[in-house]
Amino acid sequence: MGKTITEKVLDDHLVEGELTPGEEIGIEIDQVLTQDTTGTMVWLQFEALGLDEVQTELAAQYCDHQTYQFDFKNTDDHRFLRSAAGTYGAHFSRPGNGICHNVHKENFAAPGKTLLGSDSHTPTPGGLGQLAIGAGGLDITVAMGGGAYYVDMPEVVNIRLEGELGEWASAKDVILELLRRLSVKGGVGKVFEYTGPGVETLSVPERTTITNMGTELGATSSIFGTDERTKEWLEEVDRPEDYVELQPDEDAEYADEIVVDLSEIEPLIAEPSMPDNVVPVREAAGQSVEQVMIGSCTNGAYEDILPAAKMLEGREVNKKTEMIIAPASKQASEMLAREGWTAELMAAGVNFSEATCGACIGIGHVPGSDTVSLRTFNRNFEGRSGIEDDSVFLCSPEVATAAAIKGEIIDPRDLADELGDLEDPGFEMGTGYDREDADLIAPDEAVDDELVKGPNIGDVPLKDPLQSNLKGEVLLRMDDNITTDHIIPATSDILKFRSNVPKLSEFTLSRVDDTFAQRALDADGGFLVAGENYGQGSSREHAALCPMYLGIEGVLAQSFARIHKANLFNFGLVPLTIDEDDYEKIEQGDDVQIVDDVGEGVRSGATEFTFRVNDEWEGTAHLDASEREREILAAGGKLSWTRQQYDES
Ligand code: SF4
Repeated sequence: MGKTITEKVLDDHLVEGELTPGEEIGIEIDQVLTQDTTGTMVWLQFEALGLDEVQTELAAQYCDHQTYQFDFKNTDDHRFLRSAAGTYGAHFSRPGNGICHNVHKENFAAPGKTLLGSDSHTPTPGGLGQLAIGAGGLDITVAMGGGAYYVDMPEVVNIRLEGELGEWASAKDVILELLRRLSVKGGVGKVFEYTGPGVETLSVPERTTITNMGTELGATSSIFGTDERTKEWLEEVDRPEDYVELQPDEDAEYADEIVVDLSEIEPLIAEPSMPDNVVPVREAAGQSVEQVMIGSCTNGAYEDILPAAKMLEGREVNKKTEMIIAPASKQASEMLAREGWTAELMAAGVNFSEATCGACIGIGHVPGSDTVSLRTFNRNFEGRSGIEDDSVFLCSPEVATAAAIKGEIIDPRDLADELGDLEDPGFEMGTGYDREDADLIAPDEAVDDELVKGPNIGDVPLKDPLQSNLKGEVLLRMDDNITTDHIIPATSDILKFRSNVPKLSEFTLSRVDDTFAQRALDADGGFLVAGENYGQGSSREHAALCPMYLGIEGVLAQSFARIHKANLFNFGLVPLTIDEDDYEKIEQGDDVQIVDDVGEGVRSGATEFTFRVNDEWEGTAHLDASEREREILAAGGKLSWTRQQYDES
């Protein structure tokens, strides 16, 4: 039987298991990336493992989330990261050089290679044929130490693209269309593989916009094959030698096929406050817009900003709207500046930000209260912009710029009709990617050879091995779709404690209940209860690490997001699924006892555990875990388990 692209790459890297959907496989990792908010813990854990040097072909440390360095703690974190990269042999990208996915794409991403990154949008370079997966920091640590990465073999779904995008429709609209059809849970346990005649009509930057936002579908990864357009891109970034031919076999079998006719795609917009709240722009038209932002790892490339520049040539941003452009990499900023576009945009009334995640996680450019912000980002979860009752819409650069010109949401086709002389800017590939990146420090240029730790950089907490008896209070009962932003917010007042777990833990779930952290510490053990899709969003392992530090023993939820579930295992918290009836019956404050011996059950492969609530009623919780995940839980987490492995070998 023929193979899909995904199966070909996995087969080349397989070290354990078989490519049967749902079965756990171990794969060799070629490249790793980490960013500043997840990276400090990655390197502290690497230090705790006692290894001397990175074992993967390539490791890269980026500083992108908190580059404004409002506090010495951020600067100390960056200083520590530079020292860790230098000490252990990773590339280091200086703060302000750009967002990890974009800088990695420009400098290192390569078709046919595996990439593991401690950021949920790691699948971005799938657009050029790299199989890239987001994971928790501890998984990155272990991969950098030469260990395999374990994941359930996903189902491979064929997204067959036909036709060609029409006027004013863009790659962003393609992924918004998929979100509209499939929802934020539609990709769980899947890799989306893009095939069909429509693929060749899309350039690599357009493809990476699509693969970047596969994360919003919950997908393990998204990937395109390679072709002339991939070659073109690799030549542009001066790495033609990285090209490999990668196409599915003619008789490859897919778990499912979804056909998207590109010619039928129209400008779309995701309304507040979920990326799958997608409607045609015309349905949202007429709402006044206070802020427009173009940037982020989704649409912050030179090729994403150029359409905005062309649309604004000879025009101005509406007086009631602020427009900010945050290029995703300094290289994109530099290319815009060299070609004169920066000056044109500034003259039109646009403000520029440095190349950073920033506003995407509420750091800078927080929208005003009760106002509409249109962003080309990938997420609009409530409160993520830095204000609780925000009203953030997600759209393409073209739709965002049309709103900036009009001062209200408008389909760019209608604006073009109104203005008479506004043309679809189309797509144009940038040139000039081949410069030396002065902000990248290669391992052989390292300026540090020992770790530099400021006073805010703490130790890695460890958990005891799993106990036999698990009982405690339901300290918090939550609804569906709780995100990692709810569990550990990423705003600047909190982000600066990423390397200081005791302090950071004080903010755990504070957006849901600001008494939770203290109650958890006082209770010395207990459970979290949640509905569907608990832990969706980012890869941040602090969302498991901090509850662990506060003494939480387990989470009872109707379902879990993939990366968060892996993080719960990694930090020794038992992730148990419960059915809807039992979820409805459990209340906050209830006493829950797992009747069965949990330690023994986890070790022996039990999949069902009886739990008793308030000594009044019983329910059944399910544990879906591989043998390896069970060993990790029993050991009290992956760090302790990995150390045991080293001791035994
Ligand atoms: Fe940065 Fe936002 Fe992209 Fe995350 S989603 S990497 S915070 S720009």
